[in-house]
Amino acid sequence: MTHRVAVLDKDLCQPKKCGLECIKYCPVNKSGADCIILNEEVKKAQIDEDVCNGCGICVKVCPFDAITIVNLASELAADKIHQYGPNSFRLYKLPTPRKGEVVGLLGRNGMGKSTVVNILSGNLKPNLGRYENPPEWDEILKHYSGTELKSHFDKIKNKQLRASIKPQQVHHVAQAFDGTGKELIEKYDERGISRELIKELGLENSMEQNLKELSGGELQRLSIAAVASKDTEFYFFDEPSSYNDVFQRKSVARVIHSLAKIGKSVMVVEHDLTLLDYLSDYIELLYGEPAAYGIVSNVLSTKIGINVFLDGYLPTENVRFRDKKF
Ligand code: SF4
Ligand code: SF4
Repeated sequence: MTHRVAVLDKDLCQPKKCGLECIKYCPVNKSGADCIILNEEVKKAQIDEDVCNGCGICVKVCPFDAITIVNLASELAADKIHQYGPNSFRLYKLPTPRKGEVVGLLGRNGMGKSTVVNILSGNLKPNLGRYENPPEWDEILKHYSGTELKSHFDKIKNKQLRASIKPQQVHHVAQAFDGTGKELIEKYDERGISRELIKELGLENSMEQNLKELSGGELQRLSIAAVASKDTEFYFFDEPSSYNDVFQRKSVARVIHSLAKIGKSVMVVEHDLTLLDYLSDYIELLYGEPAAYGIVSNVLSTKIGINVFLDGYLPTENVRFRDKKF
């Protein structure tokens, strides 16, 4: 049994410039049902996933490659955590933050990393796929009862969880903050450890400079220092190694690991496998189809997780998520 995922790229779908081929050639439409229609309100194609048989004809005939159709195992339907709207991106399962440990997330861009971090930091309430009728917290907590995520969501619901997030694009930090490195660190240093962090990350010469004058590596390490100096329960670092050399990466790893050592929950997205190996206690993989759906794997030991990622095959779930090995 399969579970249908039909995703429409709303930017690519241009009904005024095509011959509505998807609607014309859909075999289910031809049989008289409304499987794929033109939504007159938004002027875009709309696919009924309950009626669609997954044949893929619309994918082939659309001149703008606007449609993605995927057939997933039906059991996954119960693991849907969030869907943004009809024929939109959806995420299945979530990684579990663990107190006192670093969980590494490994996967390509477009698989739902932002959705994961927004949900786990409390910025996005998971709708369990019910975008038209989103559940209240009590129902979400019931969904997670008996799991480690339940206590995490309990804290979010009760506003007892703060998150500190290092974004992937550090130049956004320089755009958002007009001031020197010292001013940034002083603004966020709730733990009173700015001096140690500045020394560990080799930022002594960056403190008096405006953020806009810093190199990518300096800005990266400064952002990590600012995030690590906040006193929160959950820390998320998105690509912390970028722009830094091997010695600076080791310093970054030590800073991130020090948070886990004092009992914080830490999650890291990183493509440098050596750093991830050095840093992570566990790995969870993110795989799927970019911009269509993402699935979070079960938790794996770091060594196994990295090997599975390189192999492109997840034996515990019997899933090949890449055609070739790296
Ligand atoms: S999905 Fe493709 S064929 Fe269908 S309306 Fe949009 S652009 Fe036209
Ligand atoms: S996959 Fe087939 S059945 Fe589904 S909408 Fe496309 S053409 Fe119709």
